[in-house]
Formats: sequence, structure tokens, C-alpha cells
Amino acid sequence: MGRVYNFSAGPSCLPEDVLKECAAEMLDYKGTGQSVMELSHRSSAYKPIIENAEALVRRLMNVPDNYKVLFLQGGGSTQFAMIPLNLGTGCKKAAYINTGVWAKKAAAEAKKFIGVDVVASSEDRGFCYIPRVEKIEGGYDYAYICLNNTIMGTRYEYLPETGPIPLVADISSCILSEPLDVSKFGLLFAGAQKNLAPAGVTLVIIRDDLIADAPLPGTPTMLSYKTHADAGSMYNTPPCYTIYVMGKVLEWIERNGGAEGMKKRNAEKAELFYTYLDGSGFYRATAEKGSRSLMNIPFLTNEADAEKADALNKKFVSEAAAAGLVNLAGHRLVGGMRASIYNAMPLDGVKALIAFMERFAAENARG
Ligand SMILES: *Cc1c(COP(=O)(O)O)cnc(C)c1O
Repeated sequence: MGRVYNFSAGPSCLPEDVLKECAAEMLDYKGTGQSVMELSHRSSAYKPIIENAEALVRRLMNVPDNYKVLFLQGGGSTQFAMIPLNLGTGCKKAAYINTGVWAKKAAAEAKKFIGVDVVASSEDRGFCYIPRVEKIEGGYDYAYICLNNTIMGTRYEYLPETGPIPLVADISSCILSEPLDVSKFGLLFAGAQKNLAPAGVTLVIIRDDLIADAPLPGTPTMLSYKTHADAGSMYNTPPCYTIYVMGKVLEWIERNGGAEGMKKRNAEKAELFYTYLDGSGFYRATAEKGSRSLMNIPFLTNEADAEKADALNKKFVSEAAAAGLVNLAGHRLVGGMRASIYNAMPLDGVKALIAFMERFAAENARG
């Protein structure tokens, strides 16, 4: 079977060039006679791999010198606990904006350790928009947002003003999809399996002064940023192979114009797709204009009857898969379909999806 276009929300498609490079080096990495999977993380062959990945993150994201770049495990979800444990040590209180599943989970986890104020929410309309919060003030150790909402398909087009309060953002599903000013944040994190690598590594970018000498009492050693910052992400065995693939993905991003190049590529794909959805009488996007994600695009058909809509969605997903367009089922909370079009999804993939959707609409329109 040939390659398909994979619209999965994560783990998601990787650039084909990267997969080929990994395959070519699989049995003998640079004359070591070993696969990268088999190298000791302390070996002289492995050291340049993690150093290269860090240097690329710093270069591509313009990370200022007073920030650490950490390669951790436990996924984005472990950050939901690490952030309050390490940053919540002052007033023991944080502000969260609730924009859907991932922000909600982060707030719920933080509540186990510190006080949480949900200062804004878009739950009133099923999270189809990003609430406008001009300013966050008061006695908070940090303010937390989820910059791109993978499930709801929404994305911040602005940043709330937080003054001296460090702004923390989950960028799991939008990292390096467009330029981002790291200096506006105290901490950024991303599970890599959406836009950077296979699953297994979580990238954390943290300002030096936020690395607590003493996290909240009882914090496990592995959940202290200081543990990993002091050891250069080598306190224990890091996810070696995933970091190696991430380095290759970052090199691919650099060859393709860096964050600016990705933005151009992603904006073109997203604009094409939203324009098609908005102009179609058969489908509609669920996220509101002004809050729309460039990466994850949920959509429904205009079938009003719930049972018929459900059957139509199932038909769509299975016929799309048969046409080589896979993983288009929507998240159960939003329903319908979702196309995740991360950095690695080529424009041709989006064009193929639209061509399929036109055909499907023509065959299934009533009357
Ligand atoms: C996928 C995702 C997560 C969870 O990541 P895991 O690595 O599975 O823990 C968190 N936040 C966002 C925005 C995500 O898309």
C-alpha cells in the first residue's frame, strides 16, 4: 500500500523526508554500527543529537538566553501537574482561561495543589471561540492558557496582558506552526507528537527565574524542573530516539523557511480549507472566525437530524479512508469530522481532501 494522507490529531503525520532519513540510518548510525535506538544516552555519538535538537529549538523559536530548553517525558499531561508544583509556590494561586478539554484538565490538576481562578471561559457556547481577556491582574503565581485547542479547533489570535504575572501556555498542537515571541511567556510546553516528533518527548521552555529551588513540599524529584535543568535533561534516560527524530523534523522546518515558512504554508492550507467550508452549503466549520486554528479544523455536515447526521458522518469517514484520507473522525465532544493539518501535511493533502468532500457532497446532497 502507498502512503495515505493522515489527518490524525496526534500522533500525526511526519515529513516523509524525515522518515526516509531515519530509515537510512536505522541499522548503522554514522558508522557506529548501531541504531540510534541502541546508543547509550551518555555516549559521544548521542551527545551531539540532543545538543543539535536544543540548538535548533533555540534558533527556530528565537529562545532568549535566559530560558532553558528541556526534553521531558510524561506527555503534555504531566505538565498539568509540574506547572503548579513548581510555579505555584508564592501566592499558591493561579489564573486559568478555560477554552476546552485541555485547559480544563490543566486547571483541574492544578487544583489538587494550589488555588485556581478560572478568569474566563468559552464553555457557554461549546468552546467555539476564544474569550477576550485584555488583562489578568492580582495575586497569581502564573496565568495559564492553551494557545491552540486541538479538540475545539480554536486558537488565540492575541495574548492577554499579564504584567508581572508569568504567562504559561500549552502549545502542544501549534508549536512552530507560526512565529511566537517566547519572551512574552514564562513557560511554554508541547507534547511532541502533534507537530514535532513521534510520541514520547515533551518540550519545555522555561525562564530561568521560574525554575524553583524548592517546589511545593512533596514534589517528586522527577517532577521538579530544577532536576532536569541542572542535568541538561539527562537526570535519567531521556527519550533518546524521539529526540533524534525531533532534531530531523526541526532540520526539515529550517530547510522550509523556519517558523515564518511554516506560517506561510499553514495559512495557505487553512485558508483554502476554511474558504471551502464557508462557501459550501453542505459542510460548516464549528470554530468561529477570529478564533480559528490553523492546525485542527473540526467540521459538521448541515444535516439537522441527529441520527441522519451521525450516519452521514460515519459514511464520510469510511469513504474518505477508502480514498486514502485517514483519521478524519471528529472528537466525540464536537462530533462530525476533524482535519488536523499540522506542519507536515502538504498542500496537496488538503486539496485531495477538498476534492473528496466536493464529490461526497454532490453524491449525498438531498433533493
Ligand atoms: C494532545 C494534547 C495534550 C496532551 O498531550 P499528552 O502528550 O497526550 O499528554 C495536551 N494539550 C494539548 C493542547 C494537546 O493537543
